[in-house]
Amino acid sequence: MTGVDSDDSLRAGSLLITNVRVFDGVEITEDDSVLVRDGVIEQVGIGITATPDLITVDGGGGTLLPGLIDAHTHVTAASDLAIALAFGVTTELDMFCTTELLAEVRTSTRGRTDHADLRSAGVGAAAPGGHPSQLVQWGIYPAFPTVASIDQVDAFVADRVAEGADYLKILLEDGQTFGIETPALEPEVVRALVVAGRAAGLLTISHVSTHADADLAIDAGVDGLAHLFIDRPPDADFARRAADAGIFVTPTLTVFEAFTGGARREAAFVDHPRLGPYLDPRSRASVIPDPDQSFQMTPPAGVSHEHAFAGTAALRQAGVPILAGTDAATGRSAHGFCLHAELAALVDAGLSPAEALRAATAAPAEAFGLADRGRIEAGRSADLLLVDGDPTADITATREIREIWRQGVRFDREAHRKAFNV
Ligand SMILES: [Zn+2]
Repeated sequence: MTGVDSDDSLRAGSLLITNVRVFDGVEITEDDSVLVRDGVIEQVGIGITATPDLITVDGGGGTLLPGLIDAHTHVTAASDLAIALAFGVTTELDMFCTTELLAEVRTSTRGRTDHADLRSAGVGAAAPGGHPSQLVQWGIYPAFPTVASIDQVDAFVADRVAEGADYLKILLEDGQTFGIETPALEPEVVRALVVAGRAAGLLTISHVSTHADADLAIDAGVDGLAHLFIDRPPDADFARRAADAGIFVTPTLTVFEAFTGGARREAAFVDHPRLGPYLDPRSRASVIPDPDQSFQMTPPAGVSHEHAFAGTAALRQAGVPILAGTDAATGRSAHGFCLHAELAALVDAGLSPAEALRAATAAPAEAFGLADRGRIEAGRSADLLLVDGDPTADITATREIREIWRQGVRFDREAHRKAFNV
């Protein structure tokens, strides 16, 4: 590999990457080179030659992918976004964040190519005392606004627009799958939130964990589900109804695996040579949780991640867009790192490896209207991930990270590692 010594490659987001297999966000193409200028993909083709001003990177026959998009995360600090980028996640779609924290993270990461980019729901719409209010009791979040009744909906949505929310998160949760009872939004409030969100130009995405709440969300007209349900298997017509409604779904399989007592699958590759050294101590500890501090619990009878796997398989068959999302939250899981486990889980649920990759690239970009990323094509941002091997043949090849670029600027993984591992 030439020209990747840090001074040159960190100088500007212009380079030529050659000798790669290109996964463009949908499929492997015939192309073998990608030219980037000023952070934007200028040309994708075969045998592109460099002009003298360009750094050339020999991709060594590896696979070049669009930077990965994690469609369900929770940022707790700006550093989460640097951690995510160290594992090839170039965009995080945050699904609940308090107003002050969101402002702080945005201010401290603005214009920085050494952090993943962030989109956020800001404060999600929840019933007073409902999920995730327990995080306030636990001291994780400061108190946040909730929606008690239909007459509070318009003001709540206006406040989200004012705080810079990129979409509206609506939490449908009665505690059933946790084995508790919590206050939940009334169906009429859910419907009013969808109407108000749409009127404000926001996509609406629902947290659900039961089949009944998924049905309610779909009937209310949401654009997408931020989880699949785990209380029972999908009805025979569920996937068709989801397809007819035109929604997208982020199943979050691995968080459910951990939650319902299945293995935390990323613990199995915590010492992967291309991943393990870049895990900061706190993230590493959360991947191998202390049994006393774990959020794992014995779920109520019948609650199982297997229902979410079955639902994912059915949605795939029905052609519903499936997005890869980890529900990553510091202290409980590792930003970026966990997406490699979710990709493998999606394959276990019946997606082809290429479909799983699409779920972390072109599909979330399309679902969230991020037309500037998610694909390797001229005009899109040069958020790129270079791995050894072919992840469309073996999804675990996403872990074989060689290089990461955000807007054409190479991420210095060694500097990232040395910051916590001297
Ligand atoms: Zn979440």
